[in-house]
Formats: sequence, structure tokens, C-alpha cells
Amino acid sequence: MPMDKYRGVSLQRELINLIEEYIKAHPEMGYKSLADFVTDAVREKCSELKILVATSDLPQLEHFNISENGVRILDRSLGNGVSKGRIIDVYFKPNKVLCEYCGSDNCKHVEFALNIPKVRKILIEKGWPISKRIKEV
Ligand SMILES: [Zn+2]
Repeated sequence: MPMDKYRGVSLQRELINLIEEYIKAHPEMGYKSLADFVTDAVREKCSELKILVATSDLPQLEHFNISENGVRILDRSLGNGVSKGRIIDVYFKPNKVLCEYCGSDNCKHVEFALNIPKVRKILIEKGWPISKRIKEV
């Protein structure tokens, strides 16, 4: 197997000892090794947090970290073999909105940002001229 297919993480020795004891005491669980257990536990958490959801089921653009200064957008269309997407910042200024990725005020990221209800609310409350860019609901 290629070396770079795996990466290690360090866990507290006490925790590892407890897990190993559990694995020995519960052969019926089917864990052959500590790695087995950890992989299973991590997968379960990832599934709970929807980290492992198939990329195709997810929207192309998703926003998070909304503030009056801007929005962070995850653009999944810009993903590659390594990353599942690219984080893009769209900045709000009183008279201007700017996508740091496209260097534009008129790209799909800006469009997307200005259509987020929370963003509209923030910009309209600010009364910034940029709020005129927001399409009427
Ligand atoms: Zn853009």
C-alpha cells in the first residue's frame, strides 16, 4: 500500500489502554485491532456529522460564517482529488461586495452571498448602498 494513503494521529495512552482492554474483553464486536476500532468510531462520528455524505448529494455552494464583513462559502465545484471544495470569502464593504477568489463583484459567489436571507437582513439593516444590489424578495 502506498505510504501516503495513511496518516497517524496521537491519542492519550490511557484512552488507548482502555480501548485495547475493551477490544480484548469483547471479541464478539469483531475489532481486530486498535486501528479497526478507531476507524469504526471515526466513521460513525463522520456519518453523524455528515462528513462522509457523497459529494454529489451536497449543494455546489454552501455558506457558513456569516458576518457584516462577509460570508465564507464552500464551493464544491472547485474540489479536486485532494479537497472536496474550496473555501471562498466574499467581503462586504458599504458600497461594494467582493469575491476574493474571482476578484469580482459579479460572480456566482457574490450572487449566492447576496441571496442568503441572513446576509440580506444584515446589509439592509446597515442601510449600505450595496443593499441595493439585493434583489427584491
Ligand atoms: Zn467568485
